[in-house]
Amino acid sequence: MNITRTPSADGTVILTFDRAGSAANIFDRATLEELDAHFTALENESGLRGLILASAKPKIFIAGADLNTLAQHADDSAALGEIVDLGHRVFTRLGRLPIPSVAAIHGACLGGGLELALACDWRVASTDKATKLGLPETQLGILPAWGGSTRLPKLIGLPQALGLILTGRQIAGAQALKLGVVDEVAHAEYLPDAARRLVARGKRRAARPSWLSRAPLSALVARRARRETLAKTGGHYPAPLRAIEVCMRAVGGPLEHGFALEKAAFLELVRSPECRNLVAVFFLQDRAKKLPSDPGISPMAVKRVAVIGAGTMGAGIAQWVSARGYPVRLKDVNPEALARGLHAIEQVYADAVKRRVFTLPEATAGLDRIVPIHTDVPLTGVDLVIEAAIEKLELKQQVFRELEARVGPDTILATNTSALSIDAIAAELARPERVVGLHFFNPVHRMQLVEIVRGPRTSARALDTALQFAKAIGKLPVIAKDSPGFLVNRILLPYLVEAVGLFSEGVPAAAVDRLMLDFGMPMGPLRLCDEVGIDVAQDVAKDLGRRLPDGVPINDTLEKMIAHSWLGRKSGRGFYVHPGRGGREAPNPETRFLQRARERRTPTAAAQLDRMVLIMINEAARVLDERVVDAPEDVDFGMIMGTGWAPFRGGPLRHADTLGAAEIVRRLDGLARDVAPHFAPCDRMRKMARDGRGFYSEPGTKPDAGSSSRRDDIPPGNGSAVLQPGSLARTEAPDDSGRAAPIEHAHPRSP
Ligand code: NAD
Repeated sequence: MNITRTPSADGTVILTFDRAGSAANIFDRATLEELDAHFTALENESGLRGLILASAKPKIFIAGADLNTLAQHADDSAALGEIVDLGHRVFTRLGRLPIPSVAAIHGACLGGGLELALACDWRVASTDKATKLGLPETQLGILPAWGGSTRLPKLIGLPQALGLILTGRQIAGAQALKLGVVDEVAHAEYLPDAARRLVARGKRRAARPSWLSRAPLSALVARRARRETLAKTGGHYPAPLRAIEVCMRAVGGPLEHGFALEKAAFLELVRSPECRNLVAVFFLQDRAKKLPSDPGISPMAVKRVAVIGAGTMGAGIAQWVSARGYPVRLKDVNPEALARGLHAIEQVYADAVKRRVFTLPEATAGLDRIVPIHTDVPLTGVDLVIEAAIEKLELKQQVFRELEARVGPDTILATNTSALSIDAIAAELARPERVVGLHFFNPVHRMQLVEIVRGPRTSARALDTALQFAKAIGKLPVIAKDSPGFLVNRILLPYLVEAVGLFSEGVPAAAVDRLMLDFGMPMGPLRLCDEVGIDVAQDVAKDLGRRLPDGVPINDTLEKMIAHSWLGRKSGRGFYVHPGRGGREAPNPETRFLQRARERRTPTAAAQLDRMVLIMINEAARVLDERVVDAPEDVDFGMIMGTGWAPFRGGPLRHADTLGAAEIVRRLDGLARDVAPHFAPCDRMRKMARDGRGFYSEPGTKPDAGSSSRRDDIPPGNGSAVLQPGSLARTEAPDDSGRAAPIEHAHPRSP
């Protein structure tokens, strides 16, 4: 039983959602049927005055529809169609009850949860932080299809409704009130009183359709939304476009007309590869949140943190960690760098206040949790140290030696190194087993991924502490073996170097970048080099080139750029000229001499794309072969969350399976023959091609996240796989300065 009924003396009935054995309320068929049965009972009773829908969960009203159902029936249109119909029928019945109905919303009210609330006569939301309202469906490649695409535009107007539906944005109670999504807000404690007051208002009178919903105007709004969506998504995501069409056609007509449109669009979208891939990514995120820890290990309970180095990363980490409530000691040897770091932290907090992520007192409290230091003070009270000093092995070794003398016996020592060996960093310590990699991505407040790097001597306790800590601060972890570049940079760098290679062969920088943007990357590779820093990219490439047997081929273009001090954004010039605030970036004309005159046989666009994409797939196959990570899921998840790798393609390995191993090997062989030997397919690729297998269908690897066997890992109804992405979408990561939130246009700047 998921819904309990409580009568009260004044004739108001309260239906409380409280899904058994789960932290979340979600909608599946059984819950819909249970709700339907309650409505039957209510319809047959006399003397009732009103109905209040509430939740017994502390932070969730209703988190959405059960995504397992979606994944299970992806190929069964009849079954999915029935569930869509059932939702429409039950929710419509709610709206047509003879008594007034009120949704008393406290906690996450998302997807199907908000669609239920929209079918009520009235809505009141609590002012609590936990209360978030939103329709995230388009982020999963579908659209709100239990009335949301019809009722919301009717309620708040087409432009505002599209603003919510197309972004999947989650809004707080106050904002929902401003938009007209709810009728009142109340402190959580007074929510029941407010709901009763709304019951007393009686049934809501049907509003006359606004003049804004008339056909010519809504067509105008839709055209504009379509244009903006296409510009943002490059046309890779069909769901928002279909949602615009459905909302536009539904807003001025009867409910049933809208429902029919929703259903048709839903059944079409659910079969699209984009939807399958986005749902798979959702499950990957869910998998990361639940990465199991060793049951025999008791991780360090981290209460106090120290960060060493207040540069780009140290400041970013200190900000994020302090925003999560941890006291942080931030140390830098250079007082000016420390001051700059603190200033950067203040800016992130100030920005978060401006965007209402934090209130001013919250931001001030976060900032106050950071204690800056530039001398050697004891760190015995600190449970976890995160080193983010410069990327030089000798320096890091020295930092760790000094740390070992100043921390307590159990303190875990983590390094944010991008690619250095964890084992080498720990080599000279008395207790190397407490050293672990905790690799954040830049910018820290936007990138959700953290690589947890296990050195050969890292203890299970250190690893588990890092894992639990990453989860506790709201990051999504992937565990990687201590190896050159770990997971993400290992695959990213060969791609960047290949892009530089194409540039030096005469392909204009903007053309190289355009190709990858059109493929679905959030940023072109040469722009990314500029963001990362040309010197940093070259250092990491050289390091990987030295340490990997199939090394990254180095070309001298980056070296020449460094000689000219064209270091990318930080020096104002790289592949592009970066004129600073307000100015337009343009390709750097001075780099032309670095390009060979276009050869007679300039690679075709298809060949260029193959060179950049297949090189990543080949490297990813090696990564799996060397067991840098355990499963193809880790690769896809890491690349999507760490680099924004085209989420609608499901990640490099899911994309590889779409192309097929035999085809990839054929094309790589062609490139090895015609362009350079480093394209030769690795053994794993060849074997997969021979055996007719894909990455997700190899023996010993975990099966497909969206496929039937994977679903068994997530039993329906555990409240996990609900339509509440809170984090996935068309480009990459969240921006929240301390709180996980939906992905928008964040641009990774790591290594
Ligand atoms: P940065 O140059 O911006 O900052 C390094 C800071 O460390 C400087 O402020 C410096 O004064 C300080 N420092 C130097 N020696 C120190 C010492 N002995 N004790 C305390 N502080 C000391 O560098 P960054 O970009 O923040 O990178 C830091 C680390 O994070 C590097 O290992 C880098 O590879 C890694 N990383 C960087 C990025 C990125 O995109 N910048 C991304 C992920 C990881």
